[in-house]
Amino acid sequence: MRYHSTRNDADFVNSAGAVLEGLAPDGGLYMPEEVPAFDWKKCLKGDTLSMATAILSALLPDIPNLPELVRRAYTGKFETDDLTPTVPVGNFTVLELFRGPTSAFKDVALSMLPQLLTAARDVCGQEKEILILTATSGDTGKAALEGFRDVPGIRICVFYPDGGVSKVQRAQMVTQEGGNVTVCAVRGNFDDAQTGVKNIFAACRGRELKYSLSSANSINIGRLAPQVTYYFKAYRDLLDAGKIRLGDEVNFSVPTGNFGDILAGYLAKLLGLPVGMLLCASNANKVLTDFIHTGTYDRRRPLHKTDSPSMDILVSSNLERLLYLLSGCDTALVAELMSRLNSQGVYSVPNELKEAIDALFWADYAGDEATYETIRQVWDQHHYLCDPHTAVAWKVAERYVNQTGDTRPMVVLSTASPYKFPAAVLSAIGGELDGDEFDQMERLEAVSGVPVPRNLATLRGKPERHTGVIGKDEMLPFVLGL
Ligand SMILES: *Cc1c(COP(=O)(O)O)cnc(C)c1O
Repeated sequence: MRYHSTRNDADFVNSAGAVLEGLAPDGGLYMPEEVPAFDWKKCLKGDTLSMATAILSALLPDIPNLPELVRRAYTGKFETDDLTPTVPVGNFTVLELFRGPTSAFKDVALSMLPQLLTAARDVCGQEKEILILTATSGDTGKAALEGFRDVPGIRICVFYPDGGVSKVQRAQMVTQEGGNVTVCAVRGNFDDAQTGVKNIFAACRGRELKYSLSSANSINIGRLAPQVTYYFKAYRDLLDAGKIRLGDEVNFSVPTGNFGDILAGYLAKLLGLPVGMLLCASNANKVLTDFIHTGTYDRRRPLHKTDSPSMDILVSSNLERLLYLLSGCDTALVAELMSRLNSQGVYSVPNELKEAIDALFWADYAGDEATYETIRQVWDQHHYLCDPHTAVAWKVAERYVNQTGDTRPMVVLSTASPYKFPAAVLSAIGGELDGDEFDQMERLEAVSGVPVPRNLATLRGKPERHTGVIGKDEMLPFVLGL
């Protein structure tokens, strides 16, 4: 299968090349030339790991040995063998994506990516060691560290803003074990760290280095493809529970930031899964809500700091892939829209594209106030504890059902453990906030009776291994010295 950039269809790579390169040379994202034929009914018959294998084999046919790679990526690393359990809560079904090694939904993709990258390197005959560089505002860094730790032939270096991540997130990163990991704080904010990483990539282009540089962020098709699996898994659970019959459509509500998670849902639909509406749920940074309502994407607005920080984002990279798919793979159009976004901060899509979006997606947002209310209400009514990101998706699902009367089953994607945001969750359900985040976790456990995930509970006593702090101008020499 041939992959090309969303911005030009002249040059091709195979799926291994797309995984290895991450971003296309023209700045576009790699997409398959066409959606492969797929036996979705057969796929639903296996367990989660065989579903993952079938889906990855369809999307990344040039990666050999996938059953073994999938086994290595996931076996024994998640709290449950089915990786992403579903829980009926009120009229909805919650899909828990946070049962991985760092209690973040990004574990699903970042457990698999290192395996895909290593295999892709072999296929492409690249011999150098790979150095993964990542700037993180919290969750991605830890999930990437855990995914890449001790993977042969790969090193990983994570930069986070000094003082800019939560106490728990910092503890998760600075205690990271593994012989191939480096973690370093940068004096500055997340943008400084991210710009620093981009500058390193630019400075190293064309230079003879001991490593080949790569990144773990969600523009890599190797991060997106593994996420398709849990849509199939949720569907299967609904079948097994007798809530649907094979072929019935199911709606999904997705707390959205970079548009990777929800795009995986659309890919599941393209592979045949009976997906109904995809609900794009945002927080106060509602660029996507406005876009889906009006057809105009406008990033010219201030970024709000919210209590669902993983969705505090103004440019959702993976939306580019949706524009590509819905425009009938019109790479010239996508290139033009992206160049307008770059130069003017705004673009509008043609009417036909807007109509195609309307048929598939519904969007709304919830601010912090509504988010807190929802956490409390879900707790009071159903005794289910959800994190702020999940609460945003829940609220939007509720509004959708109220406004449309749609009776198809609704799956709400849950992207973080409530224990990753203990202060927000505690105050929403009326708990005391004194002490640090670790105290708050314990209090939340006492109030709710829901156990703290092991990886978080054991953090407090772990030795700190990575305590360095550098200025943003020191990042390049730091990396060159690795
Ligand atoms: C990354 C993240 C999201 C957003 O997912 P996208 O794929 O970027 O849309 C939502 N919730 C949490 C907790 C996340 O970490």
